[in-house]
Amino acid sequence: AAKTEDKDRVRVFDVAMAKKAQRQHQIAQALPGALERNQLAVAYQPIVNALDGVASHVEALARWPHPTWGPVSPGEFIEVAERNGQIHAMGRWVLRQACLDAARWPGANPPKVSVNVSAAQVSSGKLVSQVREALAAAKLPPQRLVIELTESLPMARSEGVSQTLSDLRAMGVTLALDDFGTGYSSLSSLMKQPVSLVKIDQSFVKDVPGGGEVLIKATVDVARRFGLEVVAEGVETALQRSRLESLGVNYMQGWLFGRPMPADEFIAWLGLRDGSNEPFVLRA
Ligand code: C2E
Ligand code: MG
Ligand code: MG
Ligand code: MG
Repeated sequence: AAKTEDKDRVRVFDVAMAKKAQRQHQIAQALPGALERNQLAVAYQPIVNALDGVASHVEALARWPHPTWGPVSPGEFIEVAERNGQIHAMGRWVLRQACLDAARWPGANPPKVSVNVSAAQVSSGKLVSQVREALAAAKLPPQRLVIELTESLPMARSEGVSQTLSDLRAMGVTLALDDFGTGYSSLSSLMKQPVSLVKIDQSFVKDVPGGGEVLIKATVDVARRFGLEVVAEGVETALQRSRLESLGVNYMQGWLFGRPMPADEFIAWLGLRDGSNEPFVLRA
């Protein structure tokens, strides 16, 4: 009986694997056309300074509302695009769209737009020119753009990667380290990263109150010493917010403050604050 059960388990596993492979194949087939037909979209989620309520940054998140399949999650299509090289065309599109949208945000103090890039984009040698083109097409000052790097990347210290990162900084673009705590960098290596913003991964924020607070406290201490700002991702509750504030985290992103929104909805969200994005007391 044990043998048949094992066989059944193997078969279930095979079927799941085959289904996943088929789905990834379909995604790879459909993505170029979706890009050409402008079917991808960018959603915007505020990053708020918890001290004064200002939306200091906004993260641009790729969306693919497929006409028949329904929404395809970025977790799915970015993995596929990274593997087959479509990430370069997709990343270029997201950069351009995010800069165009950010250039329309009203007020004297509009937020910076924070765009995710994959490791392959940074290693490709094409990122700097893509960024320059996107900024120029939107007439967006480089000071309004943040590039979010995954944690493992700056550690892969190839010549080309460091050149790309220092070129971006020289242009006036801000660099952020995304999903901090999940990768390989140690706290002590933070100071060697060419970044000015550290985003603590939401898995640690989920553990607040609780065990996640240890890493967060240590990150805030190191960050402060080296002049880095800290953002907590995935803040969902008022309790998390107040704990994070007492840990010294000033910048927060999560459903408590705002979900990722379509571009027009985000402008309306900014408008709820008189369109000025001036300091005010948060009610969240
Ligand atoms: P990320 O950069 O860490 O983005 C944060 C993710 O957390 C987003 O998931 C966001 O919707 C989600 N999130 C925000 N607040 C909360 C919250 O309070 N609770 C919970 N449970 N989740 C929250 P999303 O949009 O599904 O994106 C997933 C990942 O896909 C991103 O993680 C990023 O690594 C990648 N990604 C998205 N857009 C792009 C892109 O244009 N280029 C690249 N290379 N990667 C992208
Ligand atoms: Mg990110
Ligand atoms: Mg993240
Ligand atoms: Mg990420």
